[in-house]
Amino acid sequence: MSEPHIAIIGSGPSGFFAAEALLKSDAGVRVDMFDRLPTPYGLVRSGVAPDHQQIKQVVKVFDALASNIKFAFFGNVEVGSNISLDLLRSRYDAIILAYGASAGTPLPVPGSHLSQSITATDFVGWYNGHPDFTRLDLSLDNDSAVVIGHGNVAIDVARILLSDHARLAKTDIADHALEALRRSRVRRVHMVGRRGPIQASFTTAELRELLGMPDVRIVVDREALRLDEQEHAFLELPINAAIKRNVDVINAAAARDCSREKAKELHLTFLASPVAIEGSDRVSAVQFVRNQLEGPVNDRKAVPGTWHFSVLAGLTIASIGFRGRPLENVPFDTRRGIIPNVEGRVMGEALHGAAPLYVAGWIKRGATGIIGTNRADAGETVRKLLSDFREGRWPVKDDRQRVNVPLMSPRIDFADWRRIDDAECRAGRESGRPRRKMVSIDAMLEVAVRGREGAATPETAA
Ligand code: NAP
Repeated sequence: MSEPHIAIIGSGPSGFFAAEALLKSDAGVRVDMFDRLPTPYGLVRSGVAPDHQQIKQVVKVFDALASNIKFAFFGNVEVGSNISLDLLRSRYDAIILAYGASAGTPLPVPGSHLSQSITATDFVGWYNGHPDFTRLDLSLDNDSAVVIGHGNVAIDVARILLSDHARLAKTDIADHALEALRRSRVRRVHMVGRRGPIQASFTTAELRELLGMPDVRIVVDREALRLDEQEHAFLELPINAAIKRNVDVINAAAARDCSREKAKELHLTFLASPVAIEGSDRVSAVQFVRNQLEGPVNDRKAVPGTWHFSVLAGLTIASIGFRGRPLENVPFDTRRGIIPNVEGRVMGEALHGAAPLYVAGWIKRGATGIIGTNRADAGETVRKLLSDFREGRWPVKDDRQRVNVPLMSPRIDFADWRRIDDAECRAGRESGRPRRKMVSIDAMLEVAVRGREGAATPETAA
């Protein structure tokens, strides 16, 4: 019997962990991985904060995997525009969609269209040198910025805005961002969440790092730290130990003397929802309503009260979650922003004819969890895919059906990517940094193909 040939769409952690599980299985599969960018690693490259280099070490695992002779990388190939999913489904035996959740959520309030009202997707993509965001319209010319949301991405955003330039200059932050942040006038960041400290979704290590930043005065909204008896009892439950650690870290920051002047300030504000972004052509302030919490202690909801207040700011960054984008002819849950699935098998799929579809990562479960979460998640998907295969739910195509698929863009393979990687790391070493990222696709393609024999021609897959 021929070997099953699987295409994975997306080369972030979930795509690579799916490839790892497939290649380690005894099913003898071959894996082709597609990414719309010439660079692999998805959120590890363009989501993880540049001052968190340790987290990026996971790429060593992915890099080793890419040397497997049964693995091939097809970078710079966008499924849906350079090649259709239907065409891939007619050539491969099964497809795993692992293209993440790349759409930021704009604030659902009047004024969110104004200049300098952006989402965390924009800002994170910008400082990490994602080619889509290098030309972001961003002015760091006002001393105050508002970050909406109390998750780890909001923490990353606030920390980068407040970081000392010398510290950022040792990271792989994009050159344009390093220069803009060097000139930044932002001195005060208001990080505002709609619920209380118990409901905030940050993790303790990230919170501790933010609240312990040198040269940043921390101003905590003390009103929100008063807990009722039910909340105290809730925090004492062993299952809530992580939440209690967060509350302790916030209380400790609030108890520190914050009267001493420092170069910058972080205002940590709870129980407030934005109701409008003010400004004529660009943001000048954000108007909030004070909330109260209602409902059972383990599921308290924010309910708007009557007190309103405004925060003057020249920039507002909504960090209120990410959503997946739909793909043509694939079912999509518009409410959750995911592809509906059961244990990774896409729902509503007729498992005959066209290659069956599976999902892994954020497009499967929503934008939750840390990078390691994707290993178990992709493992579940691959188990489902392989058990479907062993039960004969989808056939392996014979070689006559595997004629090459024309690609409408120059393909970047893993050797090409290694040339880009080498060039970035070499440039980084010269300036005492882990790498200096290329941020234009043209520049990447030039470096990638320069080392090849002959010119790049339209290539083929499968
Ligand atoms: P998140 O953890 O889900 O946080 C989203 C925040 O937005 C919550 O505070 C949420 O409040 C708030 N929110 C949602 N809708 C809102 C609205 N309409 N108005 C006001 N606030 C609203 O998401 P995230 O920060 O984007 O992170 C995504 C995932 O990546 C998380 O699992 C995170 O841990 C992970 N991540 C990890 C790291 C790390 O490990 N260092 C770094 C970055 C990201 P409610 O709770 O009230 O809904």
